[in-house]
Amino acid sequence: MIDPFGRKISYVRVSVTDRCDLRCVYCMSENMVFKPKPELLSFDELERLCTTFVKLGIRKIRLTGGEPLVRHGIMGLIDRLGGLVKSGQLDELTLTTNGTQLVRHAEALAKAGIRRINVSIDTLDTQRFAAVTRGGKLDRVLAGIEAAKAAGIHVKVNTVALRGVNEDEIGDLVAWCGSQGHDLALIETMPLGEIADDRADQYVSLATIRRSLERRFALRDIDYRTGGPARYAEVIGTGTRLGFITPMSHNFCEACNRVRVTCTGTMYMCLGQEDAVDLRAPLRASEGDDLLESAILKGIARKPKGHEFVIERYAPAAVRRHMSVTGG
Ligand code: SAM
Ligand code: SF4
Repeated sequence: MIDPFGRKISYVRVSVTDRCDLRCVYCMSENMVFKPKPELLSFDELERLCTTFVKLGIRKIRLTGGEPLVRHGIMGLIDRLGGLVKSGQLDELTLTTNGTQLVRHAEALAKAGIRRINVSIDTLDTQRFAAVTRGGKLDRVLAGIEAAKAAGIHVKVNTVALRGVNEDEIGDLVAWCGSQGHDLALIETMPLGEIADDRADQYVSLATIRRSLERRFALRDIDYRTGGPARYAEVIGTGTRLGFITPMSHNFCEACNRVRVTCTGTMYMCLGQEDAVDLRAPLRASEGDDLLESAILKGIARKPKGHEFVIERYAPAAVRRHMSVTGG
């Protein structure tokens, strides 16, 4: 699938739920209203959706949310999609998770063919972690990461850089990832959905963070790519790959290769634009996949050039939906 700007679309992120057992301050408001369950795609529908994307040329699928591992029965879907990797139809099936449920699922994830996962941790301080996630338990996430590692799954830690919250701790996170053998991706906070705080208070540019990291670590830019917008540097000495995802300070849309589908089957061609295509109606309209295929292709033909994020004081969010709706 090629979009109007000549970009090859080979990657889809599928949100399997908008629910989550945490309430990170930059992601959700405290009292979120979630979709009624009948609106969610069933596991059979999610599988049909994914196999249709694969038929159309998708080579990488990331399951996300909300928290993908809180959806009851999710391991059955992961197992079935893992079959696409084993048969060579898909290069990679992966997951972005907050890690709270990893202890019980790590082994089954590895068995299903998952080789790498992203786990989000913004701080290694127990109290800060509880504050950022509004009640999360850091120990449980760290135990989950250990379980993933023991099962042979490579972990990349995702950290959203937040002014006045964890900006003083990013160096310690880099050192910790180095000692544990994890890669680390730093992310700038994006204006997605209304939250309790003003995002202008949370935003810090990764250029600023990088300058302060360079006082402590020797960083060397490397060509490593995971098919995403991150630009990587190697931390000399530990070999940690350190990714910088800078949607705010430097826009990398020209290399965008992905679309996102929400848990109710809405395909967003860009994280930062409102235009979308409904895939649930064609999924439910017939047992064949022709309608679904043409809806997907119609969306790809409308993929916009890029987002127009800005973070200004009192500015409304760029799009109304939260990251937990679109799927991170
Ligand atoms: N619950 C899982 C997790 O936290 O990893 C998966 C979904 S979460 C929405 C995916 C990623 O989006 C996380 O790494 C999270 O930190 C990030 N995220 C959420 N809201 C964001 C925002 N407004 N700006 C930047 N990143 C955000
Ligand atoms: Fe949940 Fe992930 Fe959003 Fe945090 S970032 S509230 S863990 S969906």
